[in-house]
Formats: sequence, C-alpha cells, structure tokens
Amino acid sequence: MGSFQGKSVLVLGGSRGIGAAIVWRFAADGAAVTFTYAGSREAAERVAAETGSTAVVTDSADRDAVIARVRDSGPLDVLVVNAGVGAFGDPLEQDPDAVDRLIRVNVAAPYHAAVEAARRMPEGGRIIVIGSVNGDRIPFPGLSAYAMSKSALQGMARGLARDFGPRGITVNVVQPGPIDTDLNPADGPMKDIQHAVMAIKRHGRPEDVAGMVAWLAGPEAGFVTGAMHTIDGGFGA
Ligand code: NDP
Repeated sequence: MGSFQGKSVLVLGGSRGIGAAIVWRFAADGAAVTFTYAGSREAAERVAAETGSTAVVTDSADRDAVIARVRDSGPLDVLVVNAGVGAFGDPLEQDPDAVDRLIRVNVAAPYHAAVEAARRMPEGGRIIVIGSVNGDRIPFPGLSAYAMSKSALQGMARGLARDFGPRGITVNVVQPGPIDTDLNPADGPMKDIQHAVMAIKRHGRPEDVAGMVAWLAGPEAGFVTGAMHTIDGGFGA
C-alpha cells in the first residue's frame, strides 16, 4: 500500500517536466491525482493514461478558472502548484504583456489556488508551491521578472503558513535550481553559464524535485511550514 493511499492530490501544471514527475510520484504512492495543463494535450493524456491520474485543462493565467478548478476538486489533502512560465531577457526590451501574464501564472494563480484549497482542506493538509532558487539568488542579468515572481511566493508561503497553521495545514515552497526539462534543457544554451556557479555541475532530474515534494506532503513533515526548500546542486550556495 502506497504512503498516499486514500489521499486526494491536485497538481496545477502536470503534463510535462517537474509537474509530470510529481504526478508520477503521487500516483505511484497510491494517491488519487488530478492535474491541470494548458497547451500540451497529448502529453497530458499520456501522463494520465500511464499513471491512472485525471488530466483537466485549466489555464493558470485565468484566475477564475483556477479557483473553479480547485473548488470543483473537492476537499484536497495535497495541493501542489507547479505551473510556471519564464519571461527572460532585457527588461527594457520585454513585452509588458508577457510580464503581466507571468505574474498571473506564477504569482496570482498560486495565491488564489492556495486560498481556495484551504477552504475545504482537512487537518494535516499540505500546500506546496514550486518556486525557484532565483527567488533567493539572481547571478545573471535577464531574470528580473521571473525572480520577482518566485520571490513573491516566499512571502506568500510565510503568510499563509501563519493563516492556516492553526488548522494543521502546512504551506511550503520548493526551490529548484537547474532541472532538465523543456524549460531548461540539460543540453541547452544556458548549460555552461549555470553549471559554472554550481557546486554539483550538472542539471538535476524532475524526479529529484518530486521526491522533496513527496516528503513535504508526507507525515514526517507535519512540523515544517512557512519555509523554503532549495534543491539546486549548490547554485545558490
Ligand atoms: P516546463 O515548461 O517543462 O513545464 C511546465 C508545466 O507547467 C507544463 O506541464 C505546462 O503545461 C504547465 N503550465 C505552464 N503554463 C501553464 C498555464 N498557464 N496553465 C496551466 N499549466 C501551465 O517547466 P518545468 O517543469 O521546468 O518547471 C516547472 C516549475 O518549476 C515552474 O514553476 C518553474 O518556474 C519551476 N522551476 C524550474 C526550473 C528548471 O530548471 N526547470 C528551475 C527552477 C524552478 P502545458 O504545456 O500543458 O501548458
């Protein structure tokens, strides 16, 4: 019997990369998993079929759709907000609409999803948001908007941990460094510059992040809340 048998888990953004690994992990551990996606229908259907989870389309840029999705998912034992986008480059040249969309997906959606989930979450519930080591450290130019969004999650988690702590609900941020996904491929153009600042000079695997999420969602982590959990090969050391 898996350690999440009988638990209801919703992952926002589970069709690819880190989110897909999180879906795989919870499903393998016996949870009933639902996950959202926005654009990658084929990938989502594949993950759902292979894991026995349920894929539903919900664009995290649409606040009301996110709130409705969380509400319609019923009482959740675990909410994981993984969906996130990048908007990288010279801030003087960036499209302001792209920056605003990033804020909707990376900041507004996690906040509204967390609050909505907490309305019906039972004692012992877990809210876990995927931030980034760039919430702490920005060693290169071109990351300002992205870093702003990931730092915002830190304040959110600290605050919501206080709000929901009396009900036994924990709120934590997992902060990956370079992880091999479509967003940041291990053989991509940023590889050398990223590895140069790392203690362990390689990309991590999505499964590494999923393992940390599973621990935070499990019974050993009931006293861990309002905290940032960095998993970055020493990128921020
Ligand atoms: P990918 O781009 O590989 O995957 C992103 C996932 O999020 C996909 O499943 C995608 O679904 C979903 N998603 C994106 N936008 C939306 C949206 N508007 N609505 C719903 N779902 C959405 O990214 P990663 O797996 O690399 O990143 C996952 C998280 O980890 C992000 O929050 C990212 O910021 C963070 N992170 C990643 C790092 C890395 O090096 N990879 C490092 C630090 C943090 P679909 O394609 O179906 O729309």
